[in-house]
Amino acid sequence: MIAQGLKVGIVGGSIAGCTVAIELSRVGCDVTLFERTGDELKDRGAGIGVPTAVFDTLVRRDLVDSDTPYFAGRGFTRLWRTPQEARYGYLAWDQPADLALLNWGVLYRNLRKRVPDRIYRAEHRVVGLRVIAHDSVGIELADGTVRAFDLVVCADGYSSLGRRLLFPDVGIEYAGYVLWRGILNEADMDETAPLQSGVHSPGYPGGHGIFYFVPGPNGSVAPGTRVVNWGMYVPVAQTSLAKFFTDKEGRVHEGSLPPAGMPFATESELKRKAAERLPDYYREIVERSRNTFAYAIYDCHVPAYRKGRICLAGDAGSFARPHTAAGALKSINDAIALGEAIKQQGSLDEALSVWDAARTETNNKLVTYGNQLGRALVKEIPDWSTMDAAAMRQWFSSIVEIPMTMRDQIREEPR
Ligand SMILES: Cc1cc2nc3c(=O)[nH]c(=O)nc-3n(C[C@H](O)[C@H](O)[C@H](O)COP(=O)(O)OP(=O)(O)OC[C@H]3O[C@@H](n4cnc5c(N)ncnc54)[C@H](O)[C@@H]3O)c2cc1C
Repeated sequence: MIAQGLKVGIVGGSIAGCTVAIELSRVGCDVTLFERTGDELKDRGAGIGVPTAVFDTLVRRDLVDSDTPYFAGRGFTRLWRTPQEARYGYLAWDQPADLALLNWGVLYRNLRKRVPDRIYRAEHRVVGLRVIAHDSVGIELADGTVRAFDLVVCADGYSSLGRRLLFPDVGIEYAGYVLWRGILNEADMDETAPLQSGVHSPGYPGGHGIFYFVPGPNGSVAPGTRVVNWGMYVPVAQTSLAKFFTDKEGRVHEGSLPPAGMPFATESELKRKAAERLPDYYREIVERSRNTFAYAIYDCHVPAYRKGRICLAGDAGSFARPHTAAGALKSINDAIALGEAIKQQGSLDEALSVWDAARTETNNKLVTYGNQLGRALVKEIPDWSTMDAAAMRQWFSSIVEIPMTMRDQIREEPR
């Protein structure tokens, strides 16, 4: 029982940090989590799509409530604007799917409420880590105090302090394009029927869009109360990134522009591009959306998930492009696997070695998979209007070398 009383410090209290706290507490560790922000409502982005089987597993593991609202997506529809099909687009492929489409914020709040307030230390910024001995690591807080732990898990996101300390040579690599996103209340749409089927993806030269319903802000999935979550991949040269991420006040942001931060001129130019590329039905959704936001797409491979008694989890480790639809789920899987390894192995060192090898391999494969999807679906996207379902199926099965489903990514055992 190596977990009993093991003192674990966690840096970061979002998806990965909360799930590590839940899973390690449940196997008997003595957990403390430090989060630099207050305990306000966090909301990153809008929608997340997970296979329904994965959602059911999260419920069985008691990570989310069984009545968590989601919109059931039964298909993944790929389209392309043509002169003849200017309104809805040419239907290239209706891929069957079984997806639970939910809000990022709802997922986060499900996890957060399972972490007791006594161990979630909000407004505690970590400024450094110190190796005190081979089995002891100090977490240094902004107020100068240092707290010693047997194990430290850095779940501090894509610009992780932990990753920079462990692997100073590892950089993040810009993919050459950004994801521009928005949401629109269903009540502001003229026509909702086309999106009832699930996820719609209109392709265009240089990228594609993603459109799907998620529950409305109050969690309702009743028709008329939902929200359309959309995104468009748009190429932006590396040299233009600083200009692109300059907000209304003239401040330059590092890799993202928050909702309400985008200058009118930037949003107007993006909407002009959307009007040229999207079938009219999707163009109207984009045009009517306010306070759109954007973030740059990066790849990051890490050589390992652990050095001594310091581990990485979630986006603090490697991270993959959003085409993999794996960001939040990868974080949850890192945490579940760590809890399982600590429960099953005979010593902490064995547990960390087994966990490290498995997570490094799986997550770096996911990065490669996202890279391949990005090449096929953004940079070298073929004209789907020249392809039928059989040609699309053949093309899709040839674009990636690593077969990986999200189902393979998660442990299935019920708790
Ligand atoms: C703008 C944006 C929008 C996104 N939208 C979506 C989406 O809609 N769907 C989806 O699946 N994925 C989305 N993602 C990706 C998804 O948010 C991440 O993959 C997922 O949240 C990773 O969780 P994480 O806990 O590893 O990291 P994060 O969610 O980034 O959390 C890291 C946490 O660590 C804290 N922290 C950082 N440094 C310190 C420190 N020094 N001390 C203490 N605390 C610290 C931060 O405040 C934060 O709470 C989005 C990402 C971004 C950047």
